[in-house]
Amino acid sequence: MRYAIIADIHANLAAFTAVLADIDQRGGMDEIWCLGDVVGYGPDPHQCIELLRQHNHVCVAGNHDWAAVGKLNLAEFNPDAAAACRWTAQQLTPEDIDYLENLPLVIEKDDFTLLHGSPREPIWEYLISVSSAKENFVYFHSQFCLVGHSHVPLVFRLNETGACSFSQFSANIGLVLARSRLIINPGGVGQPRDGDPRASYAILDSETGMVRLYRVAYDIGVTQASMVRHNLPIRLVSRLSYGM
Ligand code: ZN
Repeated sequence: MRYAIIADIHANLAAFTAVLADIDQRGGMDEIWCLGDVVGYGPDPHQCIELLRQHNHVCVAGNHDWAAVGKLNLAEFNPDAAAACRWTAQQLTPEDIDYLENLPLVIEKDDFTLLHGSPREPIWEYLISVSSAKENFVYFHSQFCLVGHSHVPLVFRLNETGACSFSQFSANIGLVLARSRLIINPGGVGQPRDGDPRASYAILDSETGMVRLYRVAYDIGVTQASMVRHNLPIRLVSRLSYGM
């Protein structure tokens, strides 16, 4: 089976569409595993939910998904994120709201645990350091965990001696799933933050036991023009150009 691992679409339809086209070009997939934050920041929340739901998929809740339907207090957000969230809430249909409200926090699939932030705090914690990742390996029981939230493609590895290390998850290099336990972040589709503005996602091939990361160029200008048209915060518009 082939699974597309995607995170942090963030209402960026141009990026999401480009990723889906890239998946098709690479032979397609059986199921999308979406790691949350379908909405927030970007200009196409309804369209992204609708497009995701047209595909065979599972999806966990992210902080922006919860905030858009009032399950999180906006006081926890910075002013730009809060402004975008208030706008997002006005764009959602009753079906969209129902969908976001009912997203689970954690999904277990075979050897994988799927969630947005961290096993310890699925909505809020960013896994960007070895120390926090190491603490989190006791909070899930499967061999592998897939996370989003930081929008940075990373792999944390807990080897058999109990030591934890991390590496950047580079495009086109196969990550072999072997004995070590791993926490894997496929990067962000709709708002990458590792300095590369291209959309980021991964494909898991369960037959070969490999996960491979891909970067996909998309028309950033289309998304930015739409954000400007909807008066979304300018800092959110410009950061897409830099992948930061
Ligand atoms: Zn996010």
